Amino acid sequence: GQDYVNPRNTAAGSLRQKDPSVTASRNLKFFAYAWGYTTADPAPTQYDSVQKFAEWGFKISPLMVRAKSAEELIAHYHRIEEQRSALGYDIDGVVYKVDQLELQRRWGFVTGEPRWAVAHKFPAEQAMTTVQKIDIQVGRTGTLAPVARLAPVTVGGVVVENVTLHNEDYIKGLDSTGQPIRDGIDVRIGDTVVIQRAGDVIPQIVSVVIDKRPADAVPYEFPHTCPICGSPATREINEKTGKEDSRRRCTGELICPAQAVEGLRHFVSRGALDIEGLGAENIDTFFNAGLIKTAADIFTLRDRRPAVTRALAERREEQARQREAASGKTRKNVRSVEDRNYEGLDKLFAAIDSRREPELDRFIFALGIRHIGETTAAVLARTFSTIEELIRVGKETAAAEDPHTVFPSVNGIGDTVIDALRDFFGNERNDDVLDALLRQVKPKPYIVNVSTDSEVAGKTVVFTGSLEKMTRSEAKAMAERLGAKVAGSVSAKTDLVVAG
Ligand SMILES: [Zn+2]
Repeated sequence: GQDYVNPRNTAAGSLRQKDPSVTASRNLKFFAYAWGYTTADPAPTQYDSVQKFAEWGFKISPLMVRAKSAEELIAHYHRIEEQRSALGYDIDGVVYKVDQLELQRRWGFVTGEPRWAVAHKFPAEQAMTTVQKIDIQVGRTGTLAPVARLAPVTVGGVVVENVTLHNEDYIKGLDSTGQPIRDGIDVRIGDTVVIQRAGDVIPQIVSVVIDKRPADAVPYEFPHTCPICGSPATREINEKTGKEDSRRRCTGELICPAQAVEGLRHFVSRGALDIEGLGAENIDTFFNAGLIKTAADIFTLRDRRPAVTRALAERREEQARQREAASGKTRKNVRSVEDRNYEGLDKLFAAIDSRREPELDRFIFALGIRHIGETTAAVLARTFSTIEELIRVGKETAAAEDPHTVFPSVNGIGDTVIDALRDFFGNERNDDVLDALLRQVKPKPYIVNVSTDSEVAGKTVVFTGSLEKMTRSEAKAMAERLGAKVAGSVSAKTDLVVAG
């Protein structure tokens, strides 16, 4: 009953399932058209081999023919093209193959491609329509993604109403390297555009029909603030290339509802506050029930026990209803929401309370500030020792004309991180969220208690992969306590690599 957008990905994904009953439930069908290792050829020719498959009970494509000339091949290509929309399954072209298997072997392969087979693709189907408006969607990581809303049009049997415009530069007619696309013509609201479905799925704008551009059409002005939360939306400079990121991003990480769920999931995740029992599913439930808006709300859940119980009960009820609908069976006893009791709740509240004094590096990482991963969070914790000091320096850095006059020079902290800290602490709207959180949580001051006589003291260590006995962050912390320097990637300075 479910519709899948991309048949190729769906089929491949179904076959990769670990549970074969899931694969079986997907109702896949296939035409047999080739074979792997055999001790003898099924038949001397491609065509007869495939006919053999049919004798053996496999389905084969009824469209396969044997042609005697290039003209016959092209004629058949056009015959299939005519039937294409009535086939009941998607195809993107035909494949011509040399029929004699002996000849196939003699012609062989060049860089993995057979010289005895060639694909002849159908042209992507195109249609003309108009851009009615441009909406900005905010992704879970804060990326502002423009979408063109089109007058609905049918392309290749599918009604297309939306098409992604990727980013600001794409709308202007430039690709990610600054080269013109669509002859450098920008996309405006009111424009007539040619769209196509490339390959098997995603529709895209091929060109703008400039002759049909309304006289009053104006260049699209990409917003510089987040349409959801109103925070500034900025383009970062890539430190390595010195180029601007093509995507504009909302800087209101903590306060942006579009990013909130993702931020909350991150906050409770393993490398961050690691709150047991408060996984992604519960975060979603509490967020959707309006019980958690920002991280501070997690710590007051205990005070709102009846509402928490109700949210969990409603989720279970909904899940039970879905199971009923799927199986056609009805439950015998339906307990009312009020009757339910959640023994697990006390455990959950205890797990939350046990994280009221988190390690400073975990807390900094948990804030989900852009570009601040576990390693950088640990460096910041070591450098500033307390959250209050980090906030103070962060705010001063944000206010300073030149951040380098305020922010100390720290090994492992580059301009990308300093800019991210400026965005974060410079956004007044983050203040309230952080204040509320710090009323609930008291991060421990970071005390460096480094031994100097261990075997790894003074050495630079890199951890990769997942470790068996501890998490990577625990291993890092341990190595640092033993006086080692932990780096994020292997370089000339690396003494030891621990591969998980
Ligand atoms: Zn936002």
